[in-house]
Order: sequence, then C-alpha cells, then structure tokens
Amino acid sequence: MGLTQWLTHGARQHADELALVFGDKRYTRAEFEDRVSRLAAVLRDCGVGTGDRVAMLANSSHRYIEYYYASLWAGGIMVPLNTRLALPEIVEQARDAEPVVLIVDESFSGQAEPLMQAAPSFRHVIFAGDGAAPSGMISYEAALAAAMPMADAGRDGDDVACLFYTGGTTGRAKGVMLSHGNLIANARNTLALTGFDRTLVHLHAGPLFHLAAGGRVFATTIAGGRHVVAPRFTPEDALEIIQRERITTATFVPTMLGMILQMPNFSSYDLSSLTRITYGASPMPEALLREGLERFPGVAFAQSYGMTELSPMATFLPPEEHRLDGDTRRLRSAGRAVPGVEVRVVDEDDSPLPVGKVGEIVARGPTVMKGYWRQPELTATALRGGWMHTGDAGYFDEDGFLYVVDRTKDMIVSGGENVYSTEVENAICRHPAVAQCAVIGIPDPKWGEAVHAIVVPRAGRELDAASVISHCRELIAAYKCPRSVDVHPEPLPLSSVNKINKAVLRQPFWAGRDRQVN
Ligand code: ATP
Ligand code: MG
Repeated sequence: MGLTQWLTHGARQHADELALVFGDKRYTRAEFEDRVSRLAAVLRDCGVGTGDRVAMLANSSHRYIEYYYASLWAGGIMVPLNTRLALPEIVEQARDAEPVVLIVDESFSGQAEPLMQAAPSFRHVIFAGDGAAPSGMISYEAALAAAMPMADAGRDGDDVACLFYTGGTTGRAKGVMLSHGNLIANARNTLALTGFDRTLVHLHAGPLFHLAAGGRVFATTIAGGRHVVAPRFTPEDALEIIQRERITTATFVPTMLGMILQMPNFSSYDLSSLTRITYGASPMPEALLREGLERFPGVAFAQSYGMTELSPMATFLPPEEHRLDGDTRRLRSAGRAVPGVEVRVVDEDDSPLPVGKVGEIVARGPTVMKGYWRQPELTATALRGGWMHTGDAGYFDEDGFLYVVDRTKDMIVSGGENVYSTEVENAICRHPAVAQCAVIGIPDPKWGEAVHAIVVPRAGRELDAASVISHCRELIAAYKCPRSVDVHPEPLPLSSVNKINKAVLRQPFWAGRDRQVN
C-alpha cells in the first residue's frame, strides 16, 4: 500500500471522524480524502503526470497537508520548498527540482512571478491562500469545487514520493529522494515506538516543508489520528492550540521547547490533554530536557535522532529512559536503533568501533533514502558500502544506546584534542543564568582552534564571561572550557528549521580563511 492508499483506508473505516484541523477549518476523514482526490484532478489537469514534481511555497495550513497527499495521488512527487530561504536560494531549489506546478499562499504569491521567470519548468501557479486569486493564478478552492475526484494513481513501494531538502545546516541543502516504502517504514516505526493510534490528536508545530514535521504527517494518517496544523511557530500559538484542540502529542525541536518554557504565562494554559512530547532534529541540552520534564509532569517525553536521508528516524529514546532520579545517564543518549534499521559507529575505514569509542554514525535499512536528487556522486559517497554516512560523531554504550556527540563539522580540534561542541554546550546550559548557548571553534595561533562560547542570558539575569568559564571548570576538563565568551543579548540566529545556525556565528571569526573540517 502506498501513502495515499493509507488515507483511503482510514476514510473507509471511520469516515465521519474529524481528521484535519487548521483554525476554523475542520474536515472529516471522508472530506479530507475527497478534497485530496479533487486537488489531484486539478494537478493532473495542470499537466502533472507520473514522476512529475509539484512544488509548494507556503506557510503551514490544512492545504499544505492536502498538497502532501494530492501530489502523490496524481502520481507525482512532492517538493516542499523552504519558506525561510531568500528568493535566490528558493530559485536554486526550484531549478534543481524542475517542478511542473507551483502552489503558493498569500505570504508567497509575490514570489511566484520571479520564480516562474527563473525556473522555466513551471507551467501553472495555484493560489492556496484565502480570498481571490491574483490574476494569472488558479484559485485552489474554486478549482477544487469544480473538479471531479480522480482515481488514485496508486504509486507505492519503491516509487519516489518526495524530495525533501535537508536543513542546510552545513551548507547548501540537498534534495533527498524518499520512496513510499521509505516513508511508510518510518511511519510504522513511529507507531510501534510511540503508541500513535486512533486517539491521537497531533500538533504539527514545525514547518511542513521539513521532514521532521513531514514524517509525523504520514504517521498520523497511518495511525488514523487527527492532524492539527499550527501556522508559523510561535510559543503562544502552540500553547493556545494545545489547550483549544485538546492536543495529545506534539513534536518540537529543542529551540521550540525552550521558547515554550520561557513563556511567562506558561502555567495559565490548560495543557492536561497532552500525553506525549517527541523531540529531536538537533542536540537537546540536558538542562532544557530536565526543565521540560519538570514543567510538564505526567507528559511522556521521547527523543528521536535521525536525518532527512533516513526518513528520518535512526534511533529512539523511549519515555522510560527519561528518569530524573537515580541513573540519569540516558538523558544524554539518543536511544537505540529503531526496528529494522541497523546503526553502527565506524572509523575512517568504515570498520566498526567497540563500545565507548567515538566515530562516525552510519545506518542501513528500509528507511535509507534512494539518493540525492540528480547528485549521483554525492549519493555514492554518502551511501558507500551500503551504509548511510551521517556526518555525525557518536558512540554506543554497552546496552546499545547511542550518544551523539557532535556533527563532525562542528567538532573543535584544539591543541590536538577533540572537543565536542555539544558537550561544552551541555555544561554551559546548566548555568542558572543561561537561556541559550552555542559553542564554536575559532582560529587560534597557538592551539589551531580555540573553544568559543556565545551565551544568551535569561531575562532579568546578569551574566558575564568569567562566571561562565568558572562554571565550566567545575564540570568539564580544562581543555574543553571556553577560552572566550560573548554575552549575546538577542536570541541566537536560527536556521530555516529552527536549529542554532553555527555557520552564521562562526562567520565573523573565519572571514576570509578556510576552516579545516574533520
Ligand atoms: P544539512 O544536511 O543540509 O547540513 P541538516 O543536517 O541539519 O542539514 P537534517 O536532515 O534536517 O539536515 O538534520 C539531520 C541532522 O540533525 C543530523 O545529522 C544531526 O546532526 C542532527 N540531529 C537530528 N536529530 C538529533 C538528535 N536527536 N540529537 C542530536 N542531533 C540531532
Ligand atoms: Mg545533514
């Protein structure tokens, strides 16, 4: 069964149950399927055939989820474009993917014209905003109302379902080809590990152009649960929607959780419906996780580690490993390999390393991507020997729990010693006056690179460099402690998917020089 057939499966079984919610838009499973099959017909009439790409450039909404399924229903491949990029970068993605149709909402309708000019593959633009469509664009709702539902193209298994672009944290984002089989294998793992079922009311809080949210869309449909879509993330909206829609589960990246916990009126919301929070996509500072566990008592926390290229889950840390007393080592772990996926830690020659030794994390199994879109060499390098090379460094403990220590590109080599930036960040985040921090390597004439920290104080708290350094001295070895600290009054710059953007932070220190990466 392909991804769209799961939608039909659910609609046949419980047709009148509420399945898709965005603000005051509320659709049952039967209505959701009907709208998808009509939008697919609109896409087909726009020239979308088997394997053709359909791009969307819009903020999250119910229509974004409909687009996920309609592009597949028509036999095409979905290409969600990253809304946080500058126009020339979006153009680059569009020229790379060569989509036939562009769907935009009111926030991005102004970009349609320059995109059409720059990427000649586009034949039609569909306006998925509210109100009248600008001239030259097809109105989403009007076209849907006029269309006759089409039969599902029935793609499945090895057929490519989507091109998700990677987060672009370490450079230019890559288009990752994932098949129906890849995404269904991941969704089934989500169901098995998190207990997603028909009672699920899931908040899609992150941007739907990224697979961290996308993976949950497919899992929610397969589980038979309800999709609740938040517009562009703000902590106020997230809390308000959890209360109003009686959300049971939500997925946050660590930065979002941090923003929610910093809300001054956090305790005035009724969050009693929430049973589970899943997190991942970037390192979770232990202090933030502890604060989350304390302030969301009774909510089960679970972590996943993975990447777009792995559909995305590779390992999973279940709620029972989130203890706050006794042996709390596991709070720093990313968990064990998910079902059907083998995970190893290897050296530069791809030989497996023993327990406790740090090396590159590699994975193989049914969730490994089909490849990078139109980049055979990059694909061959990443998938050499049949294993996906993650570019992350980590080690296993004796019970098979993985500890992700850093991205290999963020590791700092100082005086010949490896310093893992996330380990230093974990220490700094335990400082009571620190709200957020990032640790980077900066050029140093003596040590090659020196450890540098950028810290954001908590509201109303005093913070200075000396106190951060002396705090670290008590927790970690001297060579790992920051040699310099900048106190940054503003929140740290984030990538398009809300990860701390270390490339931007490193830039002023490395301007005009090459940084040797590991
Ligand atoms: P790009 O590949 O374009 O540089 P990216 O790697 O950020 O961007 P994604 O596929 O969104 O793109 O993110 C995957 C990466 O996120 C992983 O390789 C890892 O570095 C990090 N990551 C994901 N989950 C976790 C986690 N639970 N703990 C620590 N890091 C994580
Ligand atoms: Mg990556």
